[in-house]
Amino acid sequence: MILELQHIDKTYLQGKMEVPVLKDISLSVDTGEYVAIMGPSGSGKTTLMNIIGCLDLPTAGTYSLAGENIIGSSESKLSEIRLNSIGFVFQSFHLLPRQSAAENVALPLLYAGVPRKQRRERAIRALERVGLGDRVDFKPNQLSGGQCQRVAIARAIVNNPKILLADEPTGALDSQSGSQIMELFQMLNEEGVTIVMITHDSDVASHAKRILHIRDGRFAEQHETAETEVTS
Ligand code: ADP
Ligand code: MG
Repeated sequence: MILELQHIDKTYLQGKMEVPVLKDISLSVDTGEYVAIMGPSGSGKTTLMNIIGCLDLPTAGTYSLAGENIIGSSESKLSEIRLNSIGFVFQSFHLLPRQSAAENVALPLLYAGVPRKQRRERAIRALERVGLGDRVDFKPNQLSGGQCQRVAIARAIVNNPKILLADEPTGALDSQSGSQIMELFQMLNEEGVTIVMITHDSDVASHAKRILHIRDGRFAEQHETAETEVTS
């Protein structure tokens, strides 16, 4: 089991009012799985993703990632986990506009202390994997939206993370660019990367091997029984 969340609650404090956002969420994901989480806007998807990605801690519940207890971990341990074990892909790409594709992809390697020459070599290799070997020195404004998202995916995988987390990865893209992103996810999953993807698009979700539905901070049905057979 690579991810195991049990009885997770997340409550935000808004002034003096408590706003419960996640309510008794339990989720277990095996190594190599490809899971989609679907739900309407405001249902708590991003909040859940931030907890899975160790960007935020739950109010209650337990979480272990690759056997490591996350809840008790220090901030430096959490940032090490984010850097080495998790790749993030966001709807709006989150690329640095003044940096080239290769420099954007190399950023996690910079944080990891990899020497400059190796950083560039590994960034170029990651860009080749996403089909952008001919765009390494282009800036984001010289690339299409779909290409920008592929740069973001290259950045997410440059450290060879075990887990890829994607929050609405095709939300800003036309359907053809979205399909290319789904093909890349398929390739990475076949190579053994565990994927958890948030989407509100059922066509996009249908690429995953398991689909969970979140509504108002709860899973609609327990995931153990929610196995969805997907053809196409
Ligand atoms: P989704 O990604 O499914 O659209 P979110 O997880 O972003 O939903 O938000 C779920 C709910 O939590 C929303 O009602 C939102 O207003 C609330 N929320 C999110 N972040 C915060 C925060 N930092 N403080 C207070 N409320 C928040
Ligand atoms: Mg969201």
